[in-house]
Amino acid sequence: MRKQLHQMLRAIIRNCLILILTISAFTTQAQPDKDRQTVDILHYEATIEPDISEKTIRGAVSVQFRFLAGSPPRLELDCGRLTVERVVYQKSDVDFTRKGSQLIIPLPPASLRGKQKVRIFYWGQPAGGVQFFPESRQMYTVFSTNRWMPCRTAPADRASFDLQLILPQGLTAIANGKLRSKKTLTGGKVQLNWRMKRDVPVYCFGFAIGPLHLIIEREYGVKFQYLSADYSEAELREIFQETPRMLRFFERKAGVRYPGACYSQLLPKGQVSQEMQHFTVIRNTYGKQVLEEKEDINLGAHELAHQWWGNQVTCRDWRHFWLNEGMAVFMSSAYREYRFGREIYLEDIEAYRKAYQGVADKELDKPLQFPDWDHPTPEDRTLVYYKGAYFLHLLREELGERIFWKGIRRYTKKYFGKPVVSSDLQTIMEKVSRKDLSRLFAKWVYPAQ
Ligand SMILES: [Zn+2]
Repeated sequence: MRKQLHQMLRAIIRNCLILILTISAFTTQAQPDKDRQTVDILHYEATIEPDISEKTIRGAVSVQFRFLAGSPPRLELDCGRLTVERVVYQKSDVDFTRKGSQLIIPLPPASLRGKQKVRIFYWGQPAGGVQFFPESRQMYTVFSTNRWMPCRTAPADRASFDLQLILPQGLTAIANGKLRSKKTLTGGKVQLNWRMKRDVPVYCFGFAIGPLHLIIEREYGVKFQYLSADYSEAELREIFQETPRMLRFFERKAGVRYPGACYSQLLPKGQVSQEMQHFTVIRNTYGKQVLEEKEDINLGAHELAHQWWGNQVTCRDWRHFWLNEGMAVFMSSAYREYRFGREIYLEDIEAYRKAYQGVADKELDKPLQFPDWDHPTPEDRTLVYYKGAYFLHLLREELGERIFWKGIRRYTKKYFGKPVVSSDLQTIMEKVSRKDLSRLFAKWVYPAQ
């Protein structure tokens, strides 16, 4: 039975808050892109051996890159609090220095030409970026890739990723891209090898491990995997029954096919939700919530929407973060409208408007395009998520169904696999509608001149 309106609104706002808290808790840990890109990272290849009981990671990562014009011959990566043991360049150990979380590797001037590669050996107890649950032998990465692997965090610097994970026997693992091989090493450990050819922002890199049972379904040419240690097979099928239909819906709205052969959803221990490329970790209680109320799927839809808006059409830097998050929130409600009707969509939108109004009432409103994202407050996050979604709803009302969705398709197709800024959305929407939207965007999106 449908809940009463106030109960529904309360549930949506509860979801909103959890979403903000779980995702944004990690957002501040990434270094904002200060337009200081001096290098283009092409590919990461890592071998990682986690110790779940000790909450540590030991790894080696090869970083393939090219210096950009005007750059000094110096590679700067972020590695959180990891301890770097060695850096190897052209088969020799080279010097490196640390400055806070920065790893600075000076290289010879000849390195300014052509593709280069360094290999970094490291270990440590990651401070953030990984959730460990030793008692249940589970762990997963969350957003801040630099906390478990030296890398560049700027969302515009996309790269492909090969990952070898070394695990004890008896654990299931998922990661980005395609599982290419699994072999047993001498001593009994297992090595799994994934390859992701597609370039994505590094915050979408990740893996998850645990004694999880795995359900596989195939629809629309995609393999769907549902994993948990806490929910039964029948429950997992019920919790994620909307996923294939959701994926088709987003494909149609995006005008772009899902960029992969497999999509996995996990309900591990903990209260964190995080999208990664080709899979999503969802807080454990989401399962219970959907079993109780099958329409209560905003979070699952939000994370799946990121496979288009966020992972592929990615904010160029965190000042335009609303293009990732506002869009994912809006799309989750668009899906609920498609499945459960207009009324439920409008209830969502009203909850978003109220969340935004709450910030405005405290006189903490800001334009959606932020001046910076160095120290975001909870109110800033509310704006990015819910003012962002509310603005997209207003834009939809302004343009009408046909034009709005035509614009969304054109925007998504044009910027798929590329960075975007707020004005890119305005430009496309103006082209498809032949309307001047400058006043609307000035009111909601841009900082005052
Ligand atoms: Zn999100």
